[in-house]
Amino acid sequence: MTPEASYDVIVVGAGPAGSTSALYAAKSGASVLFLDKKREIGSPIQCAGFLPDASEVQALLRDSTLPDTLRNYPDSCVLQRINTQRIIPPNCSIKEFAVRGAVLDRRRYDQFLAEEAARAGAELMVKTRVTKIEDTTVEISGIFGKHRIKAKAIIGADGPNSLVARSKGLVLKPESRETSVAIEYQVRNVDIDPSALEMYFGKDFVPGGYAWIFPEGKDRANVGIGIRSGMAERGISAKEYLHRFMRDHPFAGPKLKNGIVMNVIAGIIPVNGAPKRTATCDSLIVGDAAGQIFATNGGGIPPAMIAGKIAGETAAEFAAGKCRLDEYDRRWRAQFGSALETSVQARQLMDGVMKSDTLMNTAFKLISPEQMKVMQCGKLPAPVRLGLQALNRGKK
Ligand SMILES: Cc1cc2nc3c(=O)[nH]c(=O)nc-3n(C[C@H](O)[C@H](O)[C@H](O)COP(=O)(O)OP(=O)(O)OC[C@H]3O[C@@H](n4cnc5c(N)ncnc54)[C@H](O)[C@@H]3O)c2cc1C
Repeated sequence: MTPEASYDVIVVGAGPAGSTSALYAAKSGASVLFLDKKREIGSPIQCAGFLPDASEVQALLRDSTLPDTLRNYPDSCVLQRINTQRIIPPNCSIKEFAVRGAVLDRRRYDQFLAEEAARAGAELMVKTRVTKIEDTTVEISGIFGKHRIKAKAIIGADGPNSLVARSKGLVLKPESRETSVAIEYQVRNVDIDPSALEMYFGKDFVPGGYAWIFPEGKDRANVGIGIRSGMAERGISAKEYLHRFMRDHPFAGPKLKNGIVMNVIAGIIPVNGAPKRTATCDSLIVGDAAGQIFATNGGGIPPAMIAGKIAGETAAEFAAGKCRLDEYDRRWRAQFGSALETSVQARQLMDGVMKSDTLMNTAFKLISPEQMKVMQCGKLPAPVRLGLQALNRGKK
């Protein structure tokens, strides 16, 4: 690369949002550079890897156009197929519903997505960090040296602590910036149902969040918790909550008691939705960088990729002089903006209920399995909204 290189589009980050943006920008005829600070795409993993089948995503997000790579990916990316989701409230009165999907090997899936983008013509640089952004010039440093590169459009797909978002003022107000802290183990030798996702609730085990057992094979699982530090007992870390869950939970403990921990994964999950603006005249943000993650269940792969397609196509159109870049903001909100907002409202209502196991047990009793399913993707049926509001009022 020459020091004065320039591209139509530079994409910062090669996770699901970045690689999808790069793929669709390149397919739309733009010259594209996408780069990631990781030495190996997708590694270390920071995800539990559950991806619902495209038909499930489409049924819940009817107005969204899914990228092909969300529908079709190699079997080698799949660790375990899933057909059931089980919800375990504090009193262990289990509810379940059918869900089709897969627990993915995120390392392989992210590599598949990046390879697709590179094969479509986008130039990929691994182990390369963006260190500074000034107007439309990015400074990069890494295995290919230090360079300043110009672009017509910059796409920030650089995760929850996005440098692009901070450099361009595309951030939530400080009082709204709340995150969920997640820690998970990949464990072997566990006694689980390999076809079912399990999500556990209860303030003593997972304050303000949930614990999960996501099967990765017959006796293998990703076991984790996402908690909100503001709702945790003082002095107790996320790791301690996870250990307590694996050891003492009456329903999960016996399944996990012989587990062998093979890998420790930690990360943060933004749970406040998107900032007011997600694009400027020359830059946009996408995926976790833009808070495009369903706050009810922490599912971020589908929205990151749906918005990535829109981001790539809009950036290419912008580079060709055919539209303004902030058209991206309007387009993604038209496809799933209201679902994202509703998921934040549902999360806020659940926050109140989650302060008491008794309220939680009552709420889970009132909500049908079908209602639970749609709530996860940002739908809040009116009876559920009213019920949660009433429970919250009763608590005061
Ligand atoms: C513990 C945990 C479990 C989860 N489980 C699930 C799940 O089961 N299902 C689901 O749908 N979602 C899950 N999520 C959420 C999901 O992982 C994210 O929503 C998804 O990865 C978002 O994709 P992204 O491309 O926006 O961000 P990321 O996947 O975070 O990718 C951002 C990329 O940007 C790179 N980067 C950052 N800064 C720079 C820089 N300055 N220069 C160069 N590169 C940079 C990073 O290295 C990274 O590769 C989970 C999250 C966590 C933390």
